[in-house]
Amino acid sequence: MLDPQRLSIHQVTLPPSLATPAFVELLARHRVPATSLWREKTRAHGVAATARLVADHGIALTGYCFAGLIASPDPSEAAAARDDVRRALDEAAQLRAPCVVFVAGGVDARDRDIAAARARVLDGLAELVPHARAVGVRLALEPLHPMICATRSVLSTVKLANDWCDRLGAEDAVGIAVDTYAVWWDPEIGREIARAGARICSFHVSDWLADTQDLRLDRGMPGDGVIDLAGLRRQVEEAGYRGHVEVEIFSQRNWWQRDPDEVVRTIAERAQVAL
Ligand code: ZN
Repeated sequence: MLDPQRLSIHQVTLPPSLATPAFVELLARHRVPATSLWREKTRAHGVAATARLVADHGIALTGYCFAGLIASPDPSEAAAARDDVRRALDEAAQLRAPCVVFVAGGVDARDRDIAAARARVLDGLAELVPHARAVGVRLALEPLHPMICATRSVLSTVKLANDWCDRLGAEDAVGIAVDTYAVWWDPEIGREIARAGARICSFHVSDWLADTQDLRLDRGMPGDGVIDLAGLRRQVEEAGYRGHVEVEIFSQRNWWQRDPDEVVRTIAERAQVAL
């Protein structure tokens, strides 16, 4: 059972057609106290206008999603990608979001070298630390499921995120986002969550459907799948995490087709029984 004051609903959970003002009003109507904003939509509405909108409705931000994809072997491409992360950090500061969700980037067909890609991302992160520190926004390293290692993220486990944090030595500027959908399968997850401790700056929940139809866009509502979400929440809290529990459901075939009020009502109900 989750205290309703600790619920956050990620903007991507609602149908893509729902514009930012209608989304913020929806949260306010249901007294949802926090959200994580989707960067594309924020930029479409305007960063300053979005910052005013959430502040006027008294809604806190638990994150800004996402930036990264800095694994390119081409130095000028990688530099441009790092500049874009710096812009995302500036936007997050303007929005008063505590962290930017950082997605590493995939394996490049030009070199097919996953070890080199990981090394480039770690080097790139070291270059980004001073900017994150200057604007007071953390980079939340988000390990993603290995099924999207090629296209999205060579960072696949919380262990690797911890190893990178050890190497960076910048706990004030770099943390870890634990997303249940991405890491639930990992036999080392309990140990690595405990090791992460205060590095955990964001906790995302959705369920893994046993009959999933699409590995990226068919996430399940908490309680509809096979992940022990309450158990993972207990582990992050035992590690010291006291922040919001952020529901983040990409669901093209189901929840994006539903009435937005029904989606939020269902999340509020499931937060009482499945989290
Ligand atoms: Zn996530």
